[in-house]
Amino acid sequence: MSLAVYNTMSGKKEKFVPLEEGKVKLYLCGPTVYDYLHIGNFRGPITFNLMRNWMEFTGYKVEMAYNYTDVDDKILKRANDEGVAPGVISEKYIAEFEKDFAALKLRPHDHNPKVTEHIPEIIESVQKLIENGKAYEVDGEVFFSVKSYENYGQLSKKKLDELDEGHRVEVDQRKRDAHDFVLWKPAKEGEGLSWESPWGRGRPGWHIECSAMIQAIFKGTIDIHGGGIDLIFPHHENEIAQGEGCTGCKYCNYWIHNNFINMNDEKMSKSLGNIMTARSFIENYDGEILKYMFLSAHYRTVFSVSDDRVLQVIAALNRIYNALELAQETVKMVDGDGQVDSGFKKKLEGFDSKIKKALNDDFNTAEFISLIFEAVRSFNALGFGNKKKRNAVHKGCSEMFIEWMNKYGEMSALFNEAPSQMLNKLDEVSIKLKGIDKEKVEELVQKRGEARDNKDWEAADKIRDELAALGVELSDGSSRGWRVVLND
Ligand SMILES: [Zn+2]
Repeated sequence: MSLAVYNTMSGKKEKFVPLEEGKVKLYLCGPTVYDYLHIGNFRGPITFNLMRNWMEFTGYKVEMAYNYTDVDDKILKRANDEGVAPGVISEKYIAEFEKDFAALKLRPHDHNPKVTEHIPEIIESVQKLIENGKAYEVDGEVFFSVKSYENYGQLSKKKLDELDEGHRVEVDQRKRDAHDFVLWKPAKEGEGLSWESPWGRGRPGWHIECSAMIQAIFKGTIDIHGGGIDLIFPHHENEIAQGEGCTGCKYCNYWIHNNFINMNDEKMSKSLGNIMTARSFIENYDGEILKYMFLSAHYRTVFSVSDDRVLQVIAALNRIYNALELAQETVKMVDGDGQVDSGFKKKLEGFDSKIKKALNDDFNTAEFISLIFEAVRSFNALGFGNKKKRNAVHKGCSEMFIEWMNKYGEMSALFNEAPSQMLNKLDEVSIKLKGIDKEKVEELVQKRGEARDNKDWEAADKIRDELAALGVELSDGSSRGWRVVLND
């Protein structure tokens, strides 16, 4: 059973065959660093973190690069607005990105190249393209000639003549074709972020950075190039044209694109105070919720974020962490060695092969998550009811379950938190999300206790109904005696 990936280039799932046996060269387009990143910007890093880990889990050695675009008009504008050097802006937001990345507990990449560190290679690429007749200079500006590359449009399935249909293209008279794009542009007087070049002082266009950095890091064809679906055209189309125009060899074998997230739900933005940065999500909710939310859907589907979706995720994580807490508690509680239950062991092995099948099928994380759930259900079904009756088999199964969950937790960057802390966190977040008035609940719970002490059952029942109406139920398992009702 080998890995199959959906290749945007062919439009179908293909068997994954790396260039070099057992090794994978993976490049993912990174962010332009001029502001905090939106949660949608993290769908790529979260998805490709899992892809990379899964490939390593199944025996590949993956070398991964994720770049920082630190040369861009938006950076210049922000620097200008704040009266600082452009590098101050880009370095600040790289550091902020890295904080979010670390808070999400994703694995650091092997390479995080920056444009500013690869200017000589970029200039060399542009020179090479001119030499190869793929690019031309006009007044200090260098353009790539799309007509010089016959497969232009192969990735996005766009044909040059069709691109013009339906809307007039503003033609830059200096260009040989309206779709020719900039490789090098001249700097304006006194503009930061500019370098000397054979065409005068200037800076690179956006697309050339990725193909030049790929060449610098990987030297030749790469196995997988990833990015958001919005990058297919023109960014990735242009990368291919430049890359192949430069080296004459194939640019990349597999193109993997993750889809959008949809956040146009007014309700959602209201509850988040209109701030949808990853930072505010992590601070207000939790990184675990974000990761679970994205991985519970297949990366090629459009994902819609809403309060309801977040609450569903909380309910799901609650079930998983409750099982982990139960397992840990059982291991501690039962003295002596655990005893392995062969039936449960077999079940987990069955899930192993199903997970392998799911993730090898174009990284079907939705199926992976549902299999984790099935395993949790099987574990709970072992029957842990009475604490005093827990025995060596319960202990053995708990140990096995913890180990099994750790294995997939490490791979997926999920389920690695201390259960009791995570359960408290999830409870806090649901109180916030549901807008539950904690003081009022505490007051009612106290009144109910008093009513029960006075054997006033009618009053106690009435208060219980009032609590239910507030979305709260009484719970012995919770330290505060009540918890938010979660529907999964
Ligand atoms: Zn790129």
